[in-house]
Amino acid sequence: MRISRKDVRLVRSGTWLATFAFALAMILQPAQGQQTPEQSRGVVVENMDPAVKPGDDFFRYCNGAWLKRTEIPADRGSVGAFLTLRDKSDQRVKELVEGAAKSNAAPGTNTRKIADLFHSYMDEAGIEAKGMAPLEPHLKAIEGIQNKKALAFALGKTLRADVDALNNTNFHTANLFGLWVAPDFNDSEHYAAYLMQGGLQLPDREYYTGQSDRMKNLRTAYQSHVAAMLKLAGFSEPAARAAKIVALEHAIAEKHLTLAENEDVHKANNPWKRTEFAAKAPGLDWAEYFRGAGLEKQENFIVWQPGAFASESGLVASEPLETWRDFLAYHVIEAYGGVLPKAFADERFAFFGKTLQGTTEQRPRWSRAVTVVNVWLGDAVGQLYAKQFFPPESKARVEKMVANIEEAFRKRIDALTWMDPATKAEAKAKLSTLYVGIGYTEHWLDYSAYEIKPDDIFGNLWRGNLFVYTRETARLGKPVDRHEWTMTPQTVNAVNLPLQNALSFPAAILEPPFFDANAPDAFNYGAIGAVIGHEVSHTFDAEGSAFDSKGRVRNWWTPADLAHFEASTQKLVEQYDKYKPFPDLALNGKQTIDENIADVAGIAASYDAYHAALGGNKAPEQAGFSGDQQFFLAYGQTRASKPREGTLRQQVMTDPHSPSEYRTDTVRNIDAWYPAFQVTEGEKLYLKPGERVRIW
Ligand SMILES: [Zn+2]
Repeated sequence: MRISRKDVRLVRSGTWLATFAFALAMILQPAQGQQTPEQSRGVVVENMDPAVKPGDDFFRYCNGAWLKRTEIPADRGSVGAFLTLRDKSDQRVKELVEGAAKSNAAPGTNTRKIADLFHSYMDEAGIEAKGMAPLEPHLKAIEGIQNKKALAFALGKTLRADVDALNNTNFHTANLFGLWVAPDFNDSEHYAAYLMQGGLQLPDREYYTGQSDRMKNLRTAYQSHVAAMLKLAGFSEPAARAAKIVALEHAIAEKHLTLAENEDVHKANNPWKRTEFAAKAPGLDWAEYFRGAGLEKQENFIVWQPGAFASESGLVASEPLETWRDFLAYHVIEAYGGVLPKAFADERFAFFGKTLQGTTEQRPRWSRAVTVVNVWLGDAVGQLYAKQFFPPESKARVEKMVANIEEAFRKRIDALTWMDPATKAEAKAKLSTLYVGIGYTEHWLDYSAYEIKPDDIFGNLWRGNLFVYTRETARLGKPVDRHEWTMTPQTVNAVNLPLQNALSFPAAILEPPFFDANAPDAFNYGAIGAVIGHEVSHTFDAEGSAFDSKGRVRNWWTPADLAHFEASTQKLVEQYDKYKPFPDLALNGKQTIDENIADVAGIAASYDAYHAALGGNKAPEQAGFSGDQQFFLAYGQTRASKPREGTLRQQVMTDPHSPSEYRTDTVRNIDAWYPAFQVTEGEKLYLKPGERVRIW
């Protein structure tokens, strides 16, 4: 569940996979496999640990038995409810892909493309037989770079639409810079070109600058890995080259903004004209860079991290041409290493999978092939998925829940004593213009310009990256589609799209344990209802306050509203700063504050909506649990998760979402949780009424 902010996931997913470095992402994604926790029609009693007091450790009360009996499969970094659903979605996609393969569809159709892309990834013998051949023309082109002007052009050619600051939230690209095409901060009716910092293979700047032993050891292992990849590709003096490449990445990392800084949209709205880059970020030959990127006619950009741009551009001038050539060569080898011969793929897994994440086994090839199909032909397979696995009755029931939760927020906004009446009016305007997509997009992507060959996985991915880049850059300056989706129906996630004032809940998350058409309301509101409430609350939280009802960047809060909001959120920052998953690593309350607020708000609003849906009737019991108990248990059980140490440490350092355990325990901020489980003073999660954080 990776990303800013807005989405609920435990691991990064969505369009960020559609990147030049897709293969890295695939390895970092936990693998598929085991079915747990069990699917149910309500609370799963056998997953609970009744020996734990709910007031001491609600996460283990909900999930303790499951935690004890569940082993993390060797091929993944964690296991949990989200990942169980991903398994289910992947199995279904696999069946759809196999169906496509059997149908012998006509060339050029989506069905044929699905079959051919899957086949090309599975064709291990063909990949071995080709060896380095697919990579060679690219390495040759890099070798031919004779001066800094040609270098600038080559760097421009690596630009891809592979970052996303606010929707699926991915700030990482291994290319020098990344492009995000999205509604313009300053003209929300049209698409703009956002440029973002890049250049690092490791997940974040912290991996280069952190001074813990673990980080130092990781850096040593990384440098050996870079050398190993260069050696496999036939480079002379791989160790010496690797040292220089890693030093260059380190210099880039020094000037990168941190994740918490990246998430501040007020620092990001920096419109630069193309002609201003040379003065604002001297060093790189920007005219050549933009020519290489095919953006020589694009007049306007928004530069997310101006300081990093100046610094990275300066390094292009100050560092030797030879180091930059090696940097480019290594980066292309790494990006495509997963579809080169096995020796490359194994070396990549040894570092990114084992050393970095602690995963001991690679996911089965078919499962990685399904990921490839989901990334590159996501809407083609998604169209089949939605038709087969998401009945209209489910769509109707979730839409009804959304309406009830929105109504709960409307009442909560009205009842706020601290918010200015004009601010309340705009918050409600945002609610009434909010577009909530349930299940699947209204407009499927057109893949007709994407050429796929059954025996050319390298080319399929290369062309896939270009296809996405061409499609995205073609949208620059065009009118915005507010009903656009950024996730496929088979994605287990949910997302808030602030520039469109829209939310999406893909079909694949509308499944047990999040949603069950046959379960009582108590369960569904505690599970998917809290997720819906979480996403709706992002509409008018600290970041939502930066975007008005039309998606324009306009702070619609008064200074007094903001001051009150910040004072009350500070209490939540302090609450989370105290959580320590490891003796040497605490959560970062500031980095996770937006998500932590959304969790509290989501549970609170969904709880209100649940009671409104009851209409004064008593809720039916399940397994002896009252309606309110079922509501909170359902919430806690959707958060069941067991990560490896490396995975959990990476999440704490790089993810705006708190780990599942602490997201579960945040029920301590909700008054109704206390009587539901007779939680009393002295129990570990107990907060005095005045210490509980109420924001909405
Ligand atoms: Zn969120």
